[in-house]
Amino acid sequence: MTMKADQPELKIGIIGAGSMGRGIAQVAAAGGCRVKLFDMDPEATDEAITFIEGMFKRAVEKKRMRPDQATAAIGQLHAVDKLDGLWDCQVIIEAAVENLDIKRRLFEKLESVIASDVILASNTSSLSITTLASECAHPERVAGMHFFNPVPLMKLVEVIDGLRTAPWVTDFLCDLGLRMGREPIRVKDAPGFLVNQVGRGYTIEAAHLCAEGVADFADVDRIMQDAADFRMGPFALMDLTGIDVSHPATDLIYQQFFHEPRYRPSTLMKTRMEADFLGRKTGQGFYTYVDGKPQIAEEAAAPAGDGRAVWVSRANPDAHGQIINLLELMNAKIDSGAVAASNSLCLVAPLGLDATTAAVNEQLDPERTMAIDCLLPLSGRLTLMKTPVTDPVFAAAAHALFASNDTPVTVINDSAGFVAQRILAMIVNIGCAIAQSGSATPADIDKAVTLGLGYPHGPLAFGDMLGPRRVLEVLESLSQITGDPRYRPTPWLRRRALLGKSLLTPAS
Ligand code: NAD
Repeated sequence: MTMKADQPELKIGIIGAGSMGRGIAQVAAAGGCRVKLFDMDPEATDEAITFIEGMFKRAVEKKRMRPDQATAAIGQLHAVDKLDGLWDCQVIIEAAVENLDIKRRLFEKLESVIASDVILASNTSSLSITTLASECAHPERVAGMHFFNPVPLMKLVEVIDGLRTAPWVTDFLCDLGLRMGREPIRVKDAPGFLVNQVGRGYTIEAAHLCAEGVADFADVDRIMQDAADFRMGPFALMDLTGIDVSHPATDLIYQQFFHEPRYRPSTLMKTRMEADFLGRKTGQGFYTYVDGKPQIAEEAAAPAGDGRAVWVSRANPDAHGQIINLLELMNAKIDSGAVAASNSLCLVAPLGLDATTAAVNEQLDPERTMAIDCLLPLSGRLTLMKTPVTDPVFAAAAHALFASNDTPVTVINDSAGFVAQRILAMIVNIGCAIAQSGSATPADIDKAVTLGLGYPHGPLAFGDMLGPRRVLEVLESLSQITGDPRYRPTPWLRRRALLGKSLLTPAS
């Protein structure tokens, strides 16, 4: 292959002029490639070209592009009305509908008109590149080029090596991605590739814990936004994406991994899809939308405190220190006895355990016990957790006490791992599973997730920040209490935690 991605006359064919195809055509033309756009619906092609021209004109108005650059880019766009019209392209990117048979038939027809070294790339988000290539005459020229929506705004592109893809093909596509102004990340073929695999941890775990009655949707969203710094809570995110998109994608990843429990979908998602509670687009998802705005009840004001003393567990010395510092700052009455006095509120800070187990392990009165999540710094939002028998007077005392610091407080029902511990540990563990599989380098895993999902940190850096040993403890306790293998720690996490190493440490 002598062709280079930076050659001026590079001609790219794009199949499908929907939301993805037009975005890919736009960034390709902006990168100086000649673009031939084909859709089985010729009106869709014309409409897409008009749309892209409009985007370039707006970029000029907003001074993001010079007029001569826009004119040159518009001049690169060409509609073709037959698939055969792509015969002279060096690269063809398929962004037609997500259907294996349709994509296979498209590649089969193309192979009868193109030279043997023309690259065939697919923008599929869920189909295996290896499977897609398996019926091609030249599977070595087939690769994935997975863009994100909206393409012009989302810098990430996952470049996927199928099992039979020749390395020069993905090398070329990485260079092409750069020419299109993207940040290419090279990934080996795997269900959900990289970003969509990690994204499951956030949404599925949230759905599972609401299905267990731990907290409601708004509470989970508030905790993940305020305490863990995510831009959007998992339920607001699923409503935006549409549950008819996210549930089938989750189910497909689960099936493709032969029922790996980490990716097990929640019935909460499936039933909502069947009820047509799809999210923003139907006006009803996890939230109800009026004029595009979610209708979320105001948080109830914190109850009044009764000034009772608080005794803090010493089972976790770091958490003990964190809580005592905060209590001192708030001038709270601290019971510093070796055992709690008979009327003191008892505060535990478990990692991965529920409040009940922590109270029983520490021989505390469960009716006076509340748990506080100390995995994240005690700022932004605090999560307090009741045992099933916590006396409402003691629950209110704890709520009032911590709310007196002007930090919002969410009180949840008993759950091993609270909310944030469960969701974050799951995200870190999935990132570690990908690192373990060798699908991408540790640094690329984090880069892809921050670019593609906008998380505050990549899964491995998040694990380092929380402390690999603490994440391991959360997962081990969750596994022990629930008996659910979805929480089993990956060897990648376990080894680095035990060795005191960063989760970004590559395999030697
Ligand atoms: P879309 O429905 O907006 O557009 C698909 C276009 O393909 C339509 O214009 C349709 O007429 C055309 N088409 C269908 N069958 C065709 C055929 N046989 N030949 C030529 N044209 C055909 O879909 P989209 O959202 O742009 O998705 C396209 C692909 O990109 C899918 O594989 C999807 O999984 C993937 N993808 C989508 C997103 C997203 O967020 N929408 C993100 C990443 C990847």
